[in-house]
Formats: sequence, C-alpha cells, structure tokens
Amino acid sequence: MAKIEKIKYLIIGNSAGGIGAAEAIRTLDKTGAISIISDEPYPVYSRPLIAEHLSERRPLKKMLFRPPDFYEKNHIQTILGKKVVKLDFPKHTVELENGQTLGWEKLLLATGGSPILPPMAGIELQGVFTFTRLDDARAIDQFLAEHRRKVRTVVIGGGLIGVSVAEALVKRDVETTIIEMKDRVLNVILDEEASALKEKILKKAGVEVITGHTVEKITSYLPGEATGVSLDDGQTLPCEMVIIAIGVRPRTELVTGTEIKVNRGIVVDRHMATSRPDVYACGDVAEAYDFVYGENRLTPIWPNAYSGGRVAGLNMAGILAEYPGGTAMNSIKYFGTNIVSAGIVAPPDDRYEVISSRDDSIYRKIVLKDGLIVGMVFSGDIEKSGIIYNLMKDRINVGTFKQVLVADDFGLSSLPEEIWRQRLAWLPSTAGSPVTAVEQAEEILVGE
Ligand SMILES: Cc1cc2nc3c(=O)[nH]c(=O)nc-3n(C[C@H](O)[C@H](O)[C@H](O)COP(=O)(O)OP(=O)(O)OC[C@H]3O[C@@H](n4cnc5c(N)ncnc54)[C@H](O)[C@@H]3O)c2cc1C
Repeated sequence: MAKIEKIKYLIIGNSAGGIGAAEAIRTLDKTGAISIISDEPYPVYSRPLIAEHLSERRPLKKMLFRPPDFYEKNHIQTILGKKVVKLDFPKHTVELENGQTLGWEKLLLATGGSPILPPMAGIELQGVFTFTRLDDARAIDQFLAEHRRKVRTVVIGGGLIGVSVAEALVKRDVETTIIEMKDRVLNVILDEEASALKEKILKKAGVEVITGHTVEKITSYLPGEATGVSLDDGQTLPCEMVIIAIGVRPRTELVTGTEIKVNRGIVVDRHMATSRPDVYACGDVAEAYDFVYGENRLTPIWPNAYSGGRVAGLNMAGILAEYPGGTAMNSIKYFGTNIVSAGIVAPPDDRYEVISSRDDSIYRKIVLKDGLIVGMVFSGDIEKSGIIYNLMKDRINVGTFKQVLVADDFGLSSLPEEIWRQRLAWLPSTAGSPVTAVEQAEEILVGE
C-alpha cells in the first residue's frame, strides 16, 4: 500500500475554533502544512450573522470572518464541502466521505455542534427547518420566496437561536409564534426579570410567545407538507413553516466509541489537548475550563471557540500555552434592546449575593460569591458591562466596593485606584472610554 503523506496540522472545522488555531499556528510556524476540512462549502463566516442573512439578505461577502484571500496568504489548504467520516488514531489518518484518506501529525477537532432533533412525528415534512448554518438560512429564504401566500411559522424553542430566527422572520413580515417548554424565553442565558423584559419586546414586535408548552407533533393535511402543529394541551396551530430550535449538541460523532474521553463534549485539559496524544479539540464540541465554575463545561459561544482554538494552535505548534478559561457570555440586540449576560445569572442558593438596580428601561444585576463576580445581566444600558465582565474574568475581589458596580454613574473611576490603573493599562487604546462587551463581541464576530 502507498505510504500516506502526513499533513503537519490537520483541522476539522472551518469556523471560529479552526481559524483561531490556524492563525495561532502561523504566528509560530510560517511554513508547516495546514489543511482545514469542512463539510460546509463556504469560506469562514460569522455564524451568528445567519439571522441577518435571513432578515435583510446580508450577502456572504459581508458575513466573512476573514478576508477572501486569508487562506492563500496564510498558506492554508482548504478541503470544503467534504465530510470526515472516520478517524484512525493509531494510523494518524482521517477518511473523507469520498473515500480519500489523509494523514496528520497533529489533529484539531473543531467540529462545533449540531441541532438537536426531537423524535417527533412530522419532522421530515417539507417546511420544517433547523437554523444553525448559512444553508439553513438560504433554504428558509427560498421557501419564503416559493410561497406566494403569507407564511405562518412556529418556532419550537425560545433560546438564543429560536429568538434570533423569530426576529429575522418578523422582519420579513412572517407571522411567527415561539413555543417554549419552560416558563420563559431565553431561560438559560437570562434571569426572570430580563426574560420578562425580552418577552415584552418580542410581543411588541409582533411575535406571539407561548410558554409552558411543547409541540407534540407536526401535522399535515397536504401530502408531504407541514400544515400545523399540535401542542401538549391539545391546542393546534396552523402554519406552513416550523423551525426546530430546541438546542445544539456537541458534534462528537467522529470520536464515539474511540478512546477519546467524552463527557457532554470532548474533554480537554488547559492546553486544549484531548485524552489522546497529538489530538486537540476546541469550540462548541469541547468541554473546556469555565473560570466561573472552576471546572470543565460547555460554553458554546464564538469568542470562547476562537480563543480556545488559538490556545490549541499554539500547543499544536509546540508552545505550552494555557487556556485562561471562558464562560457562557452573550451579548444580544433584539428589536433594538441590548442585553449582555454572563456566568451564573440565576443563583441556585443563598451562598450567592445579588446586587441590582433598575428603572423603566434599564436593568443591571451582578451575582457575587465570596466577593467575586460570578454572573451578570445588563439590559438597556450595557455601556459599562465590559468593565464588569473583565472584573469577573480576572477574578478581582469586589466585596468592598460592590454597590458602585450597578450605579447609574458607574465607570472605571468608581473603582479603587489600584484597580482602575490596572484596567487602564489593560485597555491602553481606549483609556477613559472602556470598550463595551458588545463592541468586543462585534469586533470578534465580524472580524477584520
Ligand atoms: C443562529 C446562531 C446565533 C448565534 N449567536 C451567537 C452570538 O450572538 N454570540 C456568540 O458568541 N455565539 C453565537 N452563536 C454560537 C457560535 O456561532 C458558536 O459558538 C461558534 O460558531 C462555535 O464555533 P466552532 O468553531 O466551535 O464550531 P462551528 O461554528 O459549529 O463550526 C464547526 C464546523 O465544522 C464542520 N464539521 C463538523 N463535523 C464535520 C465533519 N465530520 N467533517 C467535516 N466538517 C465538519 C461543521 O460543518 C462546521 O462548519 C450563535 C450560533 C447560531 C447558530
């Protein structure tokens, strides 16, 4: 058998994690061969922007996370539109769906997540979609174009993805209902107060919200086409389109049954190394260190995927770099209202302390444990949330000045002098005007 040549760095996944790794590798190794494989056929794009692709037809070229010549300039070979179907760790090879076999010296699994599909009658019908990829947004767009009648949509799930797609659809003048099983929308990332505010905003924008119920089946009186849904209380809702948005799970199928340790995601150490030598993982597929909980957890957001990817890349290229940890942090702007949340937003018991302030349109909440910030929700006025997030990330004890953190006039100068001096040093280019969490997130999401 012919000897298979080994690619020095092989990356599965052409998104935040994979690109973070490739960029970090190139800072240390300018020439070692890098190949990136993805079953999506596109250059790297900002996944969160698929909502804007649907709502306002934002073209792919305005969704790109890196310029079109990125791969060429960095000498990165891409194998796009091809799926990896098998890994062989002892042989250091991967097999693609077309039968091609590639060898590797170091492998990165940056395979992200895939939408959870409930075992529900009617899921195979025409008009039923998920919403995690550009191709999903394109398929929904095409469905809307093909339907001359007004389309009514039921979105199953009121989490981040469900609310994103609902907003996009309402902007396209599509009648939209969200069905959320729990008692409030965005219940994982927001506390009760911010969820209620969000629900009010959604309803004002014309989205119908039904909480405390689930869809039992998708119904059809036309051959092969979705024409409605039935809920668990027997209620039926007519609709032409159904979007399933009940969650995303780590895409671990390539390592199922192998010796790679998987818990909810692929378990990695602080160097983003898996339990198998020469194999790394990052992003939504990985269970990496969460600095709020002090343990490994899934923290499926773009900035964590990118920074975990960078750490993986540095280690793959031979530097012992450590992942500082991430946490679940979301910065969302729906229907004109900004909300930033991070860490533990609804404390489970009285070992936690909550400090908050609110008026009609502004809500600020900080969750503390032993003087450290472990969670935050800012809604309406999020300008200073970046400072709070960084105090949380850097594990600064705020016990002696916690009350100022939610004050209307809070700013860097409200902090004890030694701390604000440190912060200013950390943000040299923005001294006096701290970068907000949203600006940071946008910078990361939209890229260069
Ligand atoms: C609608 C939506 C809105 C979001 N909004 C936000 C937001 O506002 N802020 C935020 O921080 N995050 C947001 N996220 C989450 C964010 O997009 C993810 O955390 C991020 O994309 C994870 O990056 P990743 O590199 O781990 O994986 P992914 O982006 O999931 O990419 C993995 C890639 O690997 C490919 N792949 C997987 N398996 C194989 C295989 N076997 N062979 C070949 N290719 C394979 C996949 O097709 C995919 O292209 C949002 C996500 C969605 C879907």
